[in-house]
Amino acid sequence: MSTVLITGASRGIGAQCAIAFAKAGYDVALNYRRNAEMASALAKEIQSFGVRAIAVQADVADSTQVKRMFEDVRAELGAINVLVNNAGISHVGLLTDMTDDEWRRLIDTDLSGTFYCCREALFDMIRAHSGVIVNIASMWGEVGASCEAAYSAAKAGVIGLTKALAKEVGPSGVRVNAVSPGVVMTDMMADFSEKDVAALKDDTPLMRLGSPEDIADAVLFLASEKARFITGQVLSVNGGMVI
Ligand code: NAP
Repeated sequence: MSTVLITGASRGIGAQCAIAFAKAGYDVALNYRRNAEMASALAKEIQSFGVRAIAVQADVADSTQVKRMFEDVRAELGAINVLVNNAGISHVGLLTDMTDDEWRRLIDTDLSGTFYCCREALFDMIRAHSGVIVNIASMWGEVGASCEAAYSAAKAGVIGLTKALAKEVGPSGVRVNAVSPGVVMTDMMADFSEKDVAALKDDTPLMRLGSPEDIADAVLFLASEKARFITGQVLSVNGGMVI
């Protein structure tokens, strides 16, 4: 039996990843920052797949909270075999209007949070000479988005971290990959108008936006034995929007 820790699993892509891993037989730790009720309800729901599931609070932008979260998960579910770094926030606006605090909050969450979680997970994985990390990047980290400069920078950082870490820990039996979603209908898209959403669909060769299931399936694949010779890669799941 394998155990996965998924950050930001109370809703959206992370929640769908939790369901997909549970259906595949993994014990699941669902991290959340604020939405305790949603995370606990989902943990309860996925126990019906016959696996253990717990909700665990931590702000991934805080390394002390991340350390405590890993201790809690190890105590309840044992060693963590798979880490999915999914927790993230976005910020839309001109770079010239962005405050220091907004910049820091985004980088601390999307990039430093991924670093803190990788560092904690690797203690066990390197010792066990096995383990998988899947980082959730974004197509904006590949090509850059106007009015999402901080987000694009953070996600480009996640891609660089993924490639470098894959080289560093490959000899220790640990694989590190990224899934780079296109536009996926979650709360993160809540501020987009119907017109914006229609335009995004038009820009996508497969003529639709992504679903959390589209992303979760790719994450589960990279975590699985079927991806045993894949490391340091960025799997773009974007309907062809960025090729
Ligand atoms: P979402 O629906 O807004 O959900 C975000 C999740 O992250 C929630 O579970 C939230 O927890 C958690 N979270 C946020 N800040 C956190 C923190 N500091 N510590 C711990 N958890 C935190 O987002 P989503 O669309 O599913 O996005 C998931 C990932 O995919 C993100 O990394 C995002 O950048 C990436 N992505 C999304 C899209 C898209 O179009 N949606 C495209 C490309 C990449 P609470 O519920 O407790 O607040």
